[in-house]
Amino acid sequence: MKVTIFGTGYVGLVTGACLSEVGHDVTCVDVDEDKIAGLNEGVAPIYEPGLEQLIVGNHASGRLQFTTDPTAAIERAEVIFIAVGTPPDENGSADLQYVLEVARTVAAEMTGYKLICTKSTVPVGTSEKVAEAITATLAGRDVPFEVASNPEFLKEGAAVADFMRPDRIIVGSEKPAVQETMRELYAPFTVNHDRIVFMDIRSAELTKYAANAMLATKISFINEIANLAERLGADIENVRQGIGSDSRIGYSFIYPGCGYGGSCFPKDIKALIKTAEECFYDATLLRSVDDVNDRQKSRLFEKLNDHFKGALDGLTIAVWGLSFKPETDDMREAASLRLLEQLFDAGANVQAYDPQAMEEAQRRLGHRGELTLVGTKETALRGAAALVICTEWRSFRSPDFDLIKQELTEPVIFDGRNLYEPSRMKRRGFAYYGIGRGIGTNG
Ligand code: NAD
Repeated sequence: MKVTIFGTGYVGLVTGACLSEVGHDVTCVDVDEDKIAGLNEGVAPIYEPGLEQLIVGNHASGRLQFTTDPTAAIERAEVIFIAVGTPPDENGSADLQYVLEVARTVAAEMTGYKLICTKSTVPVGTSEKVAEAITATLAGRDVPFEVASNPEFLKEGAAVADFMRPDRIIVGSEKPAVQETMRELYAPFTVNHDRIVFMDIRSAELTKYAANAMLATKISFINEIANLAERLGADIENVRQGIGSDSRIGYSFIYPGCGYGGSCFPKDIKALIKTAEECFYDATLLRSVDDVNDRQKSRLFEKLNDHFKGALDGLTIAVWGLSFKPETDDMREAASLRLLEQLFDAGANVQAYDPQAMEEAQRRLGHRGELTLVGTKETALRGAAALVICTEWRSFRSPDFDLIKQELTEPVIFDGRNLYEPSRMKRRGFAYYGIGRGIGTNG
């Protein structure tokens, strides 16, 4: 099928690469000229395992095109996806300006029937706004179209794998012809069993927010229990295993840490709270999930500040991990950003390392005297007063502890992801602070 995708970010690019990989004829459109120029040279603008190979292979075969010119891309498309950003606006709602701009662009150019699917995460009722924007732009021109919702559930860091083997594909449309088109489009991804769930548009839009809200709730829940465990002298890792073994609860998404980040959970929870406000519902639970997470992002700094008795001024701190989670270079809303900001405010210097996010860190944080971005995790330790771990990259799981001890001026580790065992760290001679791991030096 001929598919056009607006937006070559995490979602649009992965969608384009994967749809072309299974044989569809895909054109990706973006307003960012540098990004499109890079993609035409085979350079992926983001780090995502397996993505660049798919881009290069399918671009070479002609099945995946990149352009900044929407006209021909709209003309040839049977299905058009809107996969542009929906960042929070100043009051926390999802900003729909990019989504509606694409709707108007499509309407201005289309001359025959089009199916327009929203893949961006958008508040309930947005598809109706997209249809209205199209109708208004058509200004009486008689061109038929359908609008559907097809929210995306891929995880950064495993986006290609998730797209290729989705748990489910949600399609919001009750029109048989639209359902048939979407079935055909996604047939290669549903070979061994049907994974497409059809529903009305509004339910599809809400399903995406509900999924993210559920996952964020699990994280804030375990972080709340972790904070209690610290005060009660209990170990959250024992508690986690104790509850995860209950099949009604399960082990996934109950890892304590220094707060969730990324491009989705923080903004989507805030947008859902805003949606609730707009329909006069007080979303008490969602507000708490957001508040708990906000507080959790300061836990590492609080632990450092307590350990050094408020005397962080002039100290150098080593930070391992800057991306919001492993296997991505995305730093949007990363816990590391809050920590760095608090350390700088306290007068500390930072030596930081991340396996993938160094360029992104440089772009975001610029050149500043108090921050040194270094090329290896070992260099980050040199002469630092403490090591802080913000992201659970695999390469941090089993480091050379003797070297860490040798390089730090004091053997102290603040572990925002509970990578190590407190008793073992104590035997190795470290002061070790995890999240939710009892009281005292092991707390
Ligand atoms: P992104 O910010 O990485 O990319 C958005 C892209 O859209 C940019 O390249 C931008 O230049 C482009 N764009 C903006 N206006 C445009 C226009 N008029 N025409 C063409 N291109 C335009 O965003 P993302 O992370 O891919 O997220 C896109 C949407 O998908 C958001 O609503 C997000 O919430 C949702 N989503 C994201 C993820 C994720 O893991 N990142 C997962 C599921 C859903």
